[in-house]
Amino acid sequence: MANQVPLDFLGDLRRTHTCGALRPSDEGHRVVLMGWVHRRRDLGGVIFIHLRDREGVAQVVFHADGDPALHAKAEMLRSEYVVAVEGLVEARSADTVNPNIPTGQVEVVAEKIWLLNTSETPPFPMEEHVDVSEDVRLKYRYVDLRRPHMQRNLMLRSKITFAVREELYGQGFLEIETPFMTKSTPEGARDFLVPSRVQPGNFYALPQSPQIFKQLLMVSGYDKYFQIVRCFRDEDLRADRQYEFTQIDLEMSFPQEEQIFETIEPLIERVCEVAGHSVKGPFPRMSYAEAMRAYGIDKPDLRLPRFWPVEDLFPADAGLTTEGLPLVAIRIPGTGALSRKERDELKEYGKERGLTVYDDPKRLERDFAGAMAQVRERTEAGENDLLILAGWRSEPKGQRPEETVFQACGQLRLFAGQKYNDRHGLLNPRDFRFLWVLDFPMFEWDEEESRWVAAHHPFTSPKDEDLEKLESNPARCRARSYDIVLNGVELGSGSIRIHRQDIQSKVFAALGFSPEEASNRFGYLLEALTYGAPPHGGIALGLDRLVMILAEETSIREVIPFPKTARGTDLMSDAPAPANARQLRELGLQLIRPK
Ligand code: ASP
Repeated sequence: MANQVPLDFLGDLRRTHTCGALRPSDEGHRVVLMGWVHRRRDLGGVIFIHLRDREGVAQVVFHADGDPALHAKAEMLRSEYVVAVEGLVEARSADTVNPNIPTGQVEVVAEKIWLLNTSETPPFPMEEHVDVSEDVRLKYRYVDLRRPHMQRNLMLRSKITFAVREELYGQGFLEIETPFMTKSTPEGARDFLVPSRVQPGNFYALPQSPQIFKQLLMVSGYDKYFQIVRCFRDEDLRADRQYEFTQIDLEMSFPQEEQIFETIEPLIERVCEVAGHSVKGPFPRMSYAEAMRAYGIDKPDLRLPRFWPVEDLFPADAGLTTEGLPLVAIRIPGTGALSRKERDELKEYGKERGLTVYDDPKRLERDFAGAMAQVRERTEAGENDLLILAGWRSEPKGQRPEETVFQACGQLRLFAGQKYNDRHGLLNPRDFRFLWVLDFPMFEWDEEESRWVAAHHPFTSPKDEDLEKLESNPARCRARSYDIVLNGVELGSGSIRIHRQDIQSKVFAALGFSPEEASNRFGYLLEALTYGAPPHGGIALGLDRLVMILAEETSIREVIPFPKTARGTDLMSDAPAPANARQLRELGLQLIRPK
């Protein structure tokens, strides 16, 4: 049907206004609008069309008693047809004014119309929210992206990107590109490899980040570098992870941690302002150790109250937790009384993580009246608050056993906090609570490989005073690294780097690299450090996550134009796809299990 409608050519017709930008001040002007038919209402004598472009929707009116040919053409319009309309902007009559949309005071009385293209009925309506599976949206992503909701998200993303550039240029940063076809960068994920045709059997790795290159730029004297850059990591996809994602990556020479924070805070303020939110730095700073003791996680959500270690308030033989391990009091405000079933659920959740949960403070009050009064005081627990205690009654676990307990308690706190959000409402997505977490441990223990791995990446500087712990006590060696956290989401991480070759070699050794291995993988960096490398440091912020939160979305796929599914498929183009025999031959590749 659709293609039987006679189409017009655009010719030299020029669009004069965007639909969404029409305002009462345009009254009396002749305008040419172009866009998509969002909705058509045919009242017999008049036809109303909502014409849509990325700025919004304008009402266009066709009167039957005017030009019959014009009216007849308007009758042919269907959803998502592409048209141009010329007409006069007039004030709407009082009964048709729509105060809910910015163009609602005016309408365009059509004098001419050009039908530029038809459209199949879209697979889902062009509404704010559609009730179809994400797979359908991704298959027809070009249609999905036309929905006002998605257009707002991508426009916000563009505005944010621009604001980042403006701010960083303003602060004297240079935008410099680094290569995509590189050697492996160790950010802890698997690499994507690109086979070389000219050197069969050799592969480039797509960068997990521009880390080494930005450090080399510091060696080259380009103080204050930044880049809004795609990074590639082959890891399991989740709501906040894609194989390729965008980072605001920056590096400075001669900074202390504070200078990095003072660079990022105005950037965040500006970006939030662009998104319509007012945020004011400086953001609170907290050490990793404090974050663990108070929240049991390295990315605390400050919208919920902290928890408190309280083992010191109880007699040594109370038996509520293994000696030497914490006993933790968790308070969730304003939940009111919980049902038996709800309490059991909390207990079960804690148990699965190794905790013994004391869900009934009344009982504890009977046995430990004095201690519990102090717990209430310390946690500031009110009558209507949920107060639970959690201890660890089995063997200590992990390299930093107290952290194992705090982490489990942190999960319990978040579980309860999220579960009862409809009662306390503290997890308001518009309450932006930024935070710096600093002084992370230098190393994490990798159970599978039974060795220490870098908690951030191997170029992170240890704290000066912990240098000798590199060998003697790696578990307690702290790094000059920092994360910026927003509402429980890690938005970015960075560190002051190692700029001396001797220290870098020591850290490689602590990570179990033999000198040959270190030189094979990072020889060029080690060498560069011997050519006058200045002290330097930097950070990278996840642009996708930042936009996601500011757009009040819960998945980064909502702010990435063409994302992949959890299995890494692009449902629209069907990537990944087999390579043909000739391509494989040219690359010198043979499949073990050909398709
Ligand atoms: N390269 C790090 C990352 O991608 C960030 C940094 O240390 O600057 O997480």
